[in-house]
Amino acid sequence: MSHYCHKSLILSESPLKIEGVALSAKILIVEDEPAIQELLCFNVLQAGFQALCAADADSMWLQIQNNLPDLILLDWMLPNTSGVILARQLRSQDATRNIPIIMLTARGEERDKIMGLEAGADDYITKPFSPRELLARIRAILRRHAPPIPDKMVSAGGLVLSPSSHRVTAHDKAIELGPTEFRLLHFFMTHAERVYSRTQLLDQVWGTQVFVEERTVDVHIRRLRAALEEAKMDGLIQTVRGSGYRFSVN
Ligand code: CA
Repeated sequence: MSHYCHKSLILSESPLKIEGVALSAKILIVEDEPAIQELLCFNVLQAGFQALCAADADSMWLQIQNNLPDLILLDWMLPNTSGVILARQLRSQDATRNIPIIMLTARGEERDKIMGLEAGADDYITKPFSPRELLARIRAILRRHAPPIPDKMVSAGGLVLSPSSHRVTAHDKAIELGPTEFRLLHFFMTHAERVYSRTQLLDQVWGTQVFVEERTVDVHIRRLRAALEEAKMDGLIQTVRGSGYRFSVN
């Protein structure tokens, strides 16, 4: 079985290939339904990204081993497994921990959405989706995961965050964080003692993208607190009723 999307082979041989495509982000599409895989692949390529495809968990891991993607589009329902399980596995391994994940699902219920995000996904899109929305979300996440964090060590309240090594330690003990929690914590540590609303946090941490819901902030705050809890530092992230959240060392 080819590990590349059928269409990517066609387009990569095309003389009309847009310059810079070779340097563009690699999107791994994990989807078992051929028609949807092809549609995703087509749209991803059209937007100038590279597309890699997998139809099950084994081929996903093989793809990752061969060619580390910049973002993963992960279907919820896969043969013998689920995107939620795979998202957790991706988040638990060093090589894949920081690769952003967008979950794809036919289930639009709120609790599924929360479950996907809690498993480690960065965003969530419901089938049938509009290609425009999908690409906007991909771009937003890639932008969010792109360099903008200044490469300067930050410390506050016993935590030390190093953007260059993407590590956080609490009293010299490593704390495992997903990419969004890492950015969120970096923002908080560099803006301590001030209250930020969910909208402000979305703008500052997620970028000015309209697609992310405010509830998403709460999910990531919960994940951040859970990660800090082991070091008994979850109290650094305070809920300010009716206003938002604050990072406070006091
Ligand atoms: Ca499926």
